Amino acid sequence: MRDPSHPVNPAAPDDFDEVGDTTLEPVVTDLITGLGEDVSREGLVATPGRVERSLRFLTSGYQASVDDVVNGALFDAEGSEMVVVKDIEFYSLCEHHMLPFFGHAHIAYIPDRTILGLSKFARVVDVFARRMQVQERMTLQIADALEAALRPTGLAVVTEASHLCMMMRGVEKQGSSTRTTAMRGAFRDDPRTRQEFLEAIR
Ligand code: ZN
Repeated sequence: MRDPSHPVNPAAPDDFDEVGDTTLEPVVTDLITGLGEDVSREGLVATPGRVERSLRFLTSGYQASVDDVVNGALFDAEGSEMVVVKDIEFYSLCEHHMLPFFGHAHIAYIPDRTILGLSKFARVVDVFARRMQVQERMTLQIADALEAALRPTGLAVVTEASHLCMMMRGVEKQGSSTRTTAMRGAFRDDPRTRQEFLEAIR
């Protein structure tokens, strides 16, 4: 992987220096110093800039909008069969510790005349994952956004994640994973529809 502190292309997506008026570099320098490190040593001297660019990318969902993602990718369609998009990888930051939580999202919907290009589901997930988050809210925000865009007969979002704030510190439960769900319409009201989805993502 190339060093993000030396962007090959200044417009590359990890170059977020232009976002906001404040630079985070002095704050990161203070943070590193506060941890007892010498920020002038060779391995750390470029770290504040790298951390800023990294954090700007990991929180780039604040600059993204669902409208921009789905624009041009909504299509009229016949039929009302369940569509399941599973194992969408995501990476987010827990808002309590600013440590990563990451895992997979599974999305299903039953269209009512409108369908969304399949690749767009992952991008909608990223709009909300690339923020400071709690998993429960992220799951609901993904569901709310897709419900508003698609007006489907039913919609289901399940996210499964490992939280580094639990694994590296605190309770240090290495193997635990957290699952949150949002069920709307037919997925909430019809146990057979819900079951069909849960079987599909097993
Ligand atoms: Zn946390």
